[in-house]
Amino acid sequence: MFDKIVIANRGEIALRILRACRELGVKVVAVHSEADRDLKHVRLADESVCIGPAASADSYLNIPAIISAAEVTDAEAIHPGYGFLSENADFSEKVKQSGFVFIGPNAETIRMMGDKISAKNAMLAAGIPCVPGNNDPLSDDNKKNLKLAQEIGYPVIIKAAGGGGGRGMRTVHTEAALLNAIAMTKAEAGTAFGNPTVYMEKFLEDPRHIEFQIMADSHGNAIHLGERDCSMQRRHQKVVEEAPAPGITEEQRKFIGERCAKACVDIGYLGAGTFEFLYEKGEFYFIEMNTRVQVEHPVTEMVTGFDIVKEQLRIAAGERLSITQDQVRIQGHAIECRLNAEDPKTFMPCPGTIDQFHMPGGPGIRCETHIYNGYKVPPYYDSMIGKLIAHGEDRKSAIARMNTALSEIIIDGIKTNIPLQHDIMNDSAFAAGGQNIHYLEKKLGIY
Ligand code: ADP
Repeated sequence: MFDKIVIANRGEIALRILRACRELGVKVVAVHSEADRDLKHVRLADESVCIGPAASADSYLNIPAIISAAEVTDAEAIHPGYGFLSENADFSEKVKQSGFVFIGPNAETIRMMGDKISAKNAMLAAGIPCVPGNNDPLSDDNKKNLKLAQEIGYPVIIKAAGGGGGRGMRTVHTEAALLNAIAMTKAEAGTAFGNPTVYMEKFLEDPRHIEFQIMADSHGNAIHLGERDCSMQRRHQKVVEEAPAPGITEEQRKFIGERCAKACVDIGYLGAGTFEFLYEKGEFYFIEMNTRVQVEHPVTEMVTGFDIVKEQLRIAAGERLSITQDQVRIQGHAIECRLNAEDPKTFMPCPGTIDQFHMPGGPGIRCETHIYNGYKVPPYYDSMIGKLIAHGEDRKSAIARMNTALSEIIIDGIKTNIPLQHDIMNDSAFAAGGQNIHYLEKKLGIY
């Protein structure tokens, strides 16, 4: 195991990684921006290095500064967390070239999966079902594109090959709107992701978002840890996640899960990863792979009792997977509510000082947050300030526990989305389970 690692992230995930390091006896170097000196994990870390001004581009995305921090502290590896540089192939490559271990897959894998077109093609080759589409970059040939859309059948969706974070997508319902939509998505993708390549696929009207967690080691072993349902979304951003996905049978889990694990072996995948699918009318359609730990990993941890972050560290250190597929057991049900510093009605971010924070508790409750009394939520980063996870013997008991936890938690001084989460937990359709990705927006009256 490593002696010391750098955590190249902030907020709750940095704290989560620090906790895993503590359990494994690994020392922690926290790197932070000038605005983040008071982050909880910075205070708890063995060492900390300020890597630049508040703006992410100058700090958490500043590759030379992060690598220098690893050099001056004599660390061995770098954990990128999620967001920021976690899916940046150049970062993975530079970390390795500088003599450190990147806790995640190698640059080629990140590059292949980061491009949604090459990812789809790799998945098709591994026998994983994908959304029907062209699976090639769209050309400038208008006639060809019109014909293609006709073949796929409207509505279609134009997606940026390098897109992410729910951006770089445009749905097209009629032929009249197609060419303009392609041109606009291309232009936006060029600006936002530095890659104007777009592709076309069938727009599934009422799918659910279901994703599979996998772990793969450097000895040719891979397992899946079952699936999560992340259909409660607003603007393609997940709001509530749960595991297992309501209504998915053991046979479906095995069928898709095993194919994902096999695909990992085929592509030489390393570490934790997620295969995201849309699920409609009983069929799974792969949309993309995330080559990192995800925000919602705790729901999988709660139902499997398996520590994904500790395993990431072990795998990066060259160890074999600590369990086999046969040892994976899904027990009970877990739900995660993302806690955002935002207005629960307008969704405007709401940074500021937390006057009072009270963490909820009780059986099956897990609170992943870096906030504390007096902590000032800075305006520069994502508005997520934590996650509340409830585990119960079944879905109903997980919801009941989440409801209790949401009524216990106190975050004063800033606005949060807790009222919205409470609303979702008390919604009869949510209680029934299996709603599609549009449900929340319809409920909010914005779809
Ligand atoms: P990102 O990398 O930006 O997260 P994804 O490809 O994972 O992009 O898609 C994000 C979300 O966009 C999905 O969860 C779904 O809500 C919607 N989406 C993407 N592709 C399709 C599709 N073919 N049909 C319907 N919705 C889609």
